[in-house]
Amino acid sequence: MIKINESYLKLQASYLFIDIARRVQAFQAAHPEKEIIKLGIGDVTHPLPDACIQAFHQGVDEMASAATFRGYGPEQGYAFLREKIAEHDFQARGADIAADEIFISDGAKCDTGNIQEIFSQEIRIAVPDPVYPVYVDTNVMAGRTGAAEEGRYKGLVYLEGTRENGFIPALPGEPVDLIYLCYPNNPTGATITREQLKVWVDYARENRSLILYDAAYEAFIRDPALPRTIYEIEGAREVAIEFRSFSKTAGFTGTRCAFTVVPKVCTAYDTAGEKHLVHALWNRRHGTKFNGVSYPVQKAAEAVYSPEGQAQARALIDGYLENAALIRREMSSLGFDCVGGENSPYIWVDGRRDSWAFFDLLLNEAGVVCTPGAGFGRCGEGYIRISAFNSRDNVEAAMARIRSALAG
Ligand code: PLP
Repeated sequence: MIKINESYLKLQASYLFIDIARRVQAFQAAHPEKEIIKLGIGDVTHPLPDACIQAFHQGVDEMASAATFRGYGPEQGYAFLREKIAEHDFQARGADIAADEIFISDGAKCDTGNIQEIFSQEIRIAVPDPVYPVYVDTNVMAGRTGAAEEGRYKGLVYLEGTRENGFIPALPGEPVDLIYLCYPNNPTGATITREQLKVWVDYARENRSLILYDAAYEAFIRDPALPRTIYEIEGAREVAIEFRSFSKTAGFTGTRCAFTVVPKVCTAYDTAGEKHLVHALWNRRHGTKFNGVSYPVQKAAEAVYSPEGQAQARALIDGYLENAALIRREMSSLGFDCVGGENSPYIWVDGRRDSWAFFDLLLNEAGVVCTPGAGFGRCGEGYIRISAFNSRDNVEAAMARIRSALAG
């Protein structure tokens, strides 16, 4: 008899986006004439930078000729891309990261999900609340948690983000081994300072823990005082893995290219307390289960680092950041406290009411879709997330509609 992995039965079905879709459909059916503006999902709306498109085409053309055709590439990614990343994203910022510490992949979602496989079943895991749900669900699937009770899995340590701490959680009150951090944060849009991040790095060093640092929204940071990578923090190389993605940096959500940084000195331990290099374990896992990102996609990603690509990607993000500033300004002027929207594409709005009630109000009265904060965890109750990923026209129209709906 074939048996299932019963850990899957513990998963709380994520009704969030299904529920949103259902409510949107019902509203549209009742008001077919009304054009809904979607500021809910975190997907980009603008096309790829022209430099990426050209390199993408070139990569495809190379596959058409026997002289330039490529079969399997290195599982870890082509050197041409790894070298550009190391130079531009890390060394140029004073972060000591080499090309062979970078693993190219087809997504930060898969990487943040897959990485936990190289750690023991017994580790104590800390996750933020509110949270990007992948961190939690992948550990549930792996059998590292108990059952869910009132929206929280037993066995996980929840790092609470609140109004009081500005959604930068305090260190856990009990020992933890693996710590998920995400800045600029999804869903709250909060950013972390160097001093705040150093507290976590020092904690990890003192406790022989490891930080999984998700920097998928790093490119939205414009404030030079904020860290662009955890490796700007002294001592992070031994205790942190960083996840990055071209999805939001350069509009690659449908093209798929990302990378994970595992420094060669990053350390974990066996039951006897002996040190092991995480780089070797991840290299083994990646090489065994992954066969690399397609050549044209890696060429397109490389083009992000050309002078034209840099300017075009920056302009793309500037557009979203202007949307974010507009949303934050409008919601603040309507009297709502907001987090994020600066150095981040997300605005986390304290609705001072039930998350779903605020969602319904904006949908029914303004025809605008946001995401109820309660869908991201217990600490998200009372908030909504508004995403800046849309055209300026749509964002302006959405804000005008929200203003008149709330006035009415
Ligand atoms: N990490 C965070 C925090 C995200 O919000 C997302 C996507 O929304 C991802 C990772 C996934 O990135 P990718 O498209 O590279 O899989």
